[in-house]
Amino acid sequence: MSSVMPPTCDVAVIGAGLAGALIARHLAQQNLNIIVLDANDVATGATGNSAEIALLGTSEFHAVLEEQHGPAFATETWELSAQNLELLAATALSLGLAAPAVGSFRLIGTSAEAILVQRSVQRLTHQGFNVLLEDAMELGYLIGLQTYDDLAFNPVEMTQRLLMHGRITLRPRTEVQHLEADSNGVTLKAKRSSLRAKAVVVAAGAFATRLCPSLAPHMSMLPVQIAECRTNETLPMPLLFNEGQVLLQDRGEFWRLSAWTPQVDENPWTQIEKYGKQFCPEAIMTRRYTSWVAQSSDGLPLVGQLSKTPHIYTLTGLGPWGLSWAFIATQQLLGLMLHDEDPGLFNVQRFETI
Ligand SMILES: Cc1cc2nc3c(=O)[nH]c(=O)nc-3n(C[C@H](O)[C@H](O)[C@H](O)COP(=O)(O)OP(=O)(O)OC[C@H]3O[C@@H](n4cnc5c(N)ncnc54)[C@H](O)[C@@H]3O)c2cc1C
Repeated sequence: MSSVMPPTCDVAVIGAGLAGALIARHLAQQNLNIIVLDANDVATGATGNSAEIALLGTSEFHAVLEEQHGPAFATETWELSAQNLELLAATALSLGLAAPAVGSFRLIGTSAEAILVQRSVQRLTHQGFNVLLEDAMELGYLIGLQTYDDLAFNPVEMTQRLLMHGRITLRPRTEVQHLEADSNGVTLKAKRSSLRAKAVVVAAGAFATRLCPSLAPHMSMLPVQIAECRTNETLPMPLLFNEGQVLLQDRGEFWRLSAWTPQVDENPWTQIEKYGKQFCPEAIMTRRYTSWVAQSSDGLPLVGQLSKTPHIYTLTGLGPWGLSWAFIATQQLLGLMLHDEDPGLFNVQRFETI
């Protein structure tokens, strides 16, 4: 009889990207038995394709967030991103990984944007953030927003190390196709197997809506493109353009350009071509690829429990700046799962009250 019973665990985590690995590790440290399932392999989704930098703040200017959502929202969002960087640094240290502060320089080309960034910097410096306005004429721009706390790290190595824990069992190449929740837990159905868990965390990135269809109206799949070019030029620090949608980095033997756009019908490649021609016209392109992220309709992570699905939690919607949210979003989910604390701004139930 027992041979036909599905295996059981305390928590099943769907998705072995950075988000899934972070929550799995924290729960394992609470002496819970965790099974992590991935349709492919560890860090083969957005995490494995990322541009490997966790930036301070948000892609929108602080002043824009203030106008759209009020000063309290703007301040809290930036504070959460600063906490995210602190958590990232502590995680890297505990795993013996490097996460150097490389900073970044956001270039501003129009006077309308310059006014917004000046207002943003005034507020941010008043709140104690380490940001500065610098002349950027040399690069062909009006001004630039210099930040110092942005961290570079290797998300693939971090994800792999996080999953190395005695209480974590990894099941790669297992695509979960269906979840059935009842009052005692959840049954996860894959093609040739099933699993019973007391709780499930859906950390399936861009594909989370397949398992949680109620998220579909509030989440979209956003393409992020990367191009790598061989060049002998050097760049002192990562440059950001177009409201944080384009990132240019010197990776030693090559430069890397990554881009996304909030417009679903626009192609990020247009931006890569534009900035590629401007900054590395002599470079030879060696590699180009696209990967997908989950983007919520207000740009913030989707963390928590969907009210109509007992025992099923989500940790998704991290977006194109997801490394700037993954660590703090995991803490918010942990607070909910272990201590019944409200995940605050990230609470997925914010959409259910609309
Ligand atoms: C090209 C690119 C560059 C980026 N650069 C940056 C950057 O520099 N800075 C930054 O902050 N952010 C960046 N991001 C965003 C960041 O990488 C993501 O927000 C973050 O990695 C998301 O992590 P995740 O764990 O939620 O998702 P993922 O890493 O996508 O992990 C989800 C996992 O779930 C698995 N899965 C999906 N469905 C199922 C299923 N049904 N059953 C089992 N497994 C399933 C997938 O195989 C995948 O491995 C970039 C993203 C891309 C695509």
